[in-house]
Formats: sequence, structure tokens, C-alpha cells
Amino acid sequence: MITIEHLKVQFGETVVLKNVDIQIANGEVVVLIGPSGSGKSTFLRCLNFLVRPVEGKITLDGAVVDAKTVSKREIDRMRLKTAMVFQNYNLLKNKTAIQNIMEPMVTVQKMNKKEAEAVAVSLLEKVGLLHKRDAYPKEMSGGQQQRVGIARALAVNANVILFDEPTSSLDPELVGEVLGVIKQLVAEHNKTMLIVTHEMKFAREVADRILFLEDGGITAMGTPQEIFENCSNERIKRFINTIN
Ligand code: ADP
Ligand code: MG
Repeated sequence: MITIEHLKVQFGETVVLKNVDIQIANGEVVVLIGPSGSGKSTFLRCLNFLVRPVEGKITLDGAVVDAKTVSKREIDRMRLKTAMVFQNYNLLKNKTAIQNIMEPMVTVQKMNKKEAEAVAVSLLEKVGLLHKRDAYPKEMSGGQQQRVGIARALAVNANVILFDEPTSSLDPELVGEVLGVIKQLVAEHNKTMLIVTHEMKFAREVADRILFLEDGGITAMGTPQEIFENCSNERIKRFINTIN
């Protein structure tokens, strides 16, 4: 369902991703791990063109775009197929929880407000935050804000959800509630998910496949068992051990 071919990303003279080729199946949960600066966020951001690759072809849901020739219209269409959960939640500060969730439905999907509100209520319920529907971001904990961020990502009904270190800004005691919500989504939905995380126990539990990114490329991939238990790559073993 997602095919990425010869992806290359460059910032100025610095090549950040090169020759990345990967296919991801519909409904697959892929966890990306790797050292800081290895290009994990950049990789996710290419999928919704928050970062524009210099080369490569991305096929998403049958629509093919070539980085060299992609048009604004193609980018907009691509963005409708993906939703992102950000490390720093990226909620609108002057809008309440429910307004944040409604925002993309009303502005991007042109849904009417009543309908959007009904969807937002059911999503707030799903992430256990109906009691915070009228709270502003500053009135919520980091974990609650991120759960609103996840509800917002679900709101647009994208087929692919991209999570960029969804718990790395949280105090340790709040990490569990957010990972719990993501695990619940994995169990209940058949959405394709790409998750960047340093939470190795969680990665092992939810991933169908783990990708290890390093030096601008995917240097290993496999099932959690292959990566965490039977991996012969010393670099990856060391990485996993330093994190745990
Ligand atoms: P990761 O998410 O794995 O920590 P990133 O994808 O954020 O890595 O970054 C990969 C590399 O690209 C880093 O060296 C980073 O400094 C660089 N980089 C990321 N975004 C930009 C940008 N907008 N402009 C210039 N360099 C960038
Ligand atoms: Mg990152």
C-alpha cells in the first residue's frame, strides 16, 4: 500500500536520506528506531511532504508521486491520506480539546460543524478525555494533550498515521497512558501506522516490523523477534542496550 523508491533528502549540501526503498503493507504497524539525527523524522515527514525529497517516488493508496515533478495538488491529495502525531502535540493553544479535534474536519474535510462535533465527541471518548472536551491545552497534562493530538489525527480518517516520538516530551509517569491509547488503536483499527519511538518494550509489543535507520538509510529490518532477540548486528545490539 505504501511504496517508497530511491528516496533522497538533502538539506543544502547535507544528504540526510539516500536510496531508501521500502514497501509497507496495508494495516502494517512499522516502528522506526535509530540514533538521534539518523533521519527518522525526516523520513516520516516525506510521507506528507512536510519535507520535500529531492529524488524518489512515493506510492500511497495507488497514487504515485515523483518527488521531482510533484505538484501542489498532488501534495494536498497525499496529505489527506496521512495524519501525523507530533512530539510536541502541536495543539492550537487558543482552542479547546474538542475544537482542536474538529479543526481539520471542518477546514480540510469541509465537514459541517454539527457532524464534526459528533465525531470529535466519539474520539474524545475513545481516548478517555470526554471530561476535558472544553479544556484548553494549558489546562491539560502533557499526556492528555497528546491524547487529544491522537484523536485529532484519527479525525480526518486518514489511512496512514505517522507518530513522531509521541511520548518523548512527556514526564515518565505520563508515558504509559499515551502508549496505552496507541496500543488500543493498533488492536481496534486496521490502519497503517509508522511510529518513531525509543520505547523498546512498546515497540516489541506493537510492531509487525521494525526498521533501524542509521546514516541516512535503513540498515536493518525485521520482526521484533529478529531485531531484539536474534540480531547479529553489533551496532543495533549496542543501540538497543544503551536505550534499555
Ligand atoms: P531524527 O528524527 O532521526 O533524530 P531528523 O530527521 O530530525 O533525525 O534529522 C536528520 C538530520 O537532518 C539531522 O542531521 C538534522 O540536523 C537534519 N535536518 C533535519 N531537518 C532539517 C532542516 N529542516 N534543515 C536542515 N537540516 C535538517
Ligand atoms: Mg526526530
